Amino acid sequence: MISLFLDILFPPACAGCRIHKGSLLCRQCERAIMTARMQENRCPVCDHRLEGSACEFCAIQPLALRQIISLGPYEGVLQNSIMAFKFRKQKRLAANLGQLMADILLANCKTHPDCILFPPMQKDRLQERGYNTAELLARTIGSAAHIPVWDIFGRSRTAPPQRTLGRAERITNVQQLFIIKKDLQLLPGKHIVIADDVTTTGSTLNALAQECLNAGAAAVVGITAAYPAAKW
Ligand SMILES: [Zn+2]
Ligand SMILES: [Zn+2]
Repeated sequence: MISLFLDILFPPACAGCRIHKGSLLCRQCERAIMTARMQENRCPVCDHRLEGSACEFCAIQPLALRQIISLGPYEGVLQNSIMAFKFRKQKRLAANLGQLMADILLANCKTHPDCILFPPMQKDRLQERGYNTAELLARTIGSAAHIPVWDIFGRSRTAPPQRTLGRAERITNVQQLFIIKKDLQLLPGKHIVIADDVTTTGSTLNALAQECLNAGAAAVVGITAAYPAAKW
């Protein structure tokens, strides 16, 4: 309520272009994100922009996921919005980014998903930030696409944040890190979506997907706001 009142007094500038006022992510920026997606030649498995005909990302990282769907590379307007969402407390951007992610999920997912899951955050980091960005995105996508969101993952130990590690370390860092804390009977035969903000090497999504597949899930698809624009 207070934030609504403040928005009227001081209309927010768009987190994407920092020019247009009145919404956290303006129409032009939303359109720019979706148009870039349509024009890019993308890998049908990991959604990365293809330079040649073969996908370098898939060649070095076999995925447990059937597919990863992303809004686009972590650059420009999309990067600005995600940075504001993750690091500048602009929690409400989950609504804008999540809605775009729901649109591309429904357009690209062959089977209607049974549920959306999200990576759990370590307690100390959750307290520091105040919210789990992946969970907020999952909940927006869930309500926009009419898919239930299940909070089923826990962590077996503390681990350094993935973004502080190199490629090989990221893979070992998440080995046996995630546990399914709810009833495993939920998962057999299910088509599952796992939502995250940014995927780099895909190691976190892969580790979570593997847990679901071990518990009998039929297939797992990842949905992320962005993948890295530079070499991962
Ligand atoms: Zn804008
Ligand atoms: Zn690929």
